[in-house]
Amino acid sequence: MDIKQALWNRFEKYVQINTQANSASTSLPSSEGQVLLAQILQKEVQELGIPNSILDQGYLYFEIPSTTKNNVPALGFLAHLDTSEDASGEKVKPKRHNHYAGGDIVISKEVILSPVHFPELIDYQGQDLVTANGDTLLGADNKAGIAIIMTLVELLQKNNWEHGPIKIAFTPDEEIGRGMDHFDVKKFGAEVAYTIDGDLVGFIENETFNADEVVIEIEGKSVHPGSAKNKMVNAGRVAADIISSWPETMMPESTEGHEGFIGFMNINGGIEKASIRGIVRDHDLLKLKTMEELMNSIIEEKKKKYPLAKINLIFKEQYRNMKEVIDQHPETMKKLIQAMESIGITPKIKPVRGGTDGSRLSFMGVPTPNIFVGGSNFHGRYEWVSLDGMQKSFETLVVLTKEWAKMPK
Ligand SMILES: [Zn+2]
Repeated sequence: MDIKQALWNRFEKYVQINTQANSASTSLPSSEGQVLLAQILQKEVQELGIPNSILDQGYLYFEIPSTTKNNVPALGFLAHLDTSEDASGEKVKPKRHNHYAGGDIVISKEVILSPVHFPELIDYQGQDLVTANGDTLLGADNKAGIAIIMTLVELLQKNNWEHGPIKIAFTPDEEIGRGMDHFDVKKFGAEVAYTIDGDLVGFIENETFNADEVVIEIEGKSVHPGSAKNKMVNAGRVAADIISSWPETMMPESTEGHEGFIGFMNINGGIEKASIRGIVRDHDLLKLKTMEELMNSIIEEKKKKYPLAKINLIFKEQYRNMKEVIDQHPETMKKLIQAMESIGITPKIKPVRGGTDGSRLSFMGVPTPNIFVGGSNFHGRYEWVSLDGMQKSFETLVVLTKEWAKMPK
């Protein structure tokens, strides 16, 4: 089986189906195209001789039975069906750039993919890259992951090497944060899993933010401006004062890596009422709580400064760092790192500055790090993926199926 060709054949087919998520929709999944892709995948799964797949609310689950006598953990792989709302996913035309020579890649007249702006491209010289045609995103996020998993499924069906139960799930609406809302952990049935939803070759992610929402509500006092002295409180101005009191070094626009922040995402108000909605993010839960204490002390100070105003501050938990769960199952990362090294890739562990489906799944009891697909610039017209990189991801999964079969429960 020519793996690179098999990956391309599937990938080319999947990206042409528009599966853009739609956050304005309340249906499940949020767009029709996701159901269509799930149905196409279910048909392929049936044609590969796997009878008992389940398609439920846009989630496709299926299993490849164990071929080992040993009682080993059920190993899961996941990818998501939808694409981002940030760029069009309609009529995607994948363009193949074989044996990338190292210079600019002309995606279209206006869209030039240049190593000057994207120096990571230099590592991909000589490889076969794929982009869209300049009008749309490509959708390698996450159809590269789907193509990698489906190619693995095909190979598992054709070759009977020793592996434990392999559980696959394709999920909808990851890009709009609903990917795990209706996920059925029992139907999935994995005890340990990996999302195939990362970017450049070698990168793995086992860490997400801890995330809270912050809501500050301010009640002012409206008095005729002509006679407002010592009587009026302008809620909007109090809101502005609160925001400008927050340290500039702890905002999204000034932080990276492991640095946390409070981001003020929505600021609304007038004299009578104002509200601030924001997000609190840090990989370290203690540091997250310390930031919240700092915000609390700023609010207390403003209450003294504006005694006629009412100020209310609340924090709501959104999600937690999956590293907490993954660290309790050290084999999950150990086997992944070994698998990558065994095929000549140096693993690079990086923290996600966000959440993943894996973080919610980890807290549902299935430790789930994230593996690269071999591409970059997701969610936009500069998106690209390397077919050679996809093959490296695929090879990592092959080794993982073998390694987990050696570990009796
Ligand atoms: Zn993704």
